[in-house]
Amino acid sequence: MNQTWQCACCGEQNETWFDPQAGQRQRLIEDCRVCCRPNVITATYNHYTNVYDLLVYQEDVG
Ligand SMILES: [Zn+2]
Repeated sequence: MNQTWQCACCGEQNETWFDPQAGQRQRLIEDCRVCCRPNVITATYNHYTNVYDLLVYQEDVG
């Protein structure tokens, strides 16, 4: 499913495809399409809303 996440660096909205088959908890690194900084995204599937709850932080900050 496509979900929107907000870049932890510049605040830009990005869209990323999450594969529900890949598990209910996922961790991936996506580059922001505007500032190109890597963002670490932790996705936890929410059974009530049927989307992933996303936690985004900047990779180099940790
Ligand atoms: Zn950005």
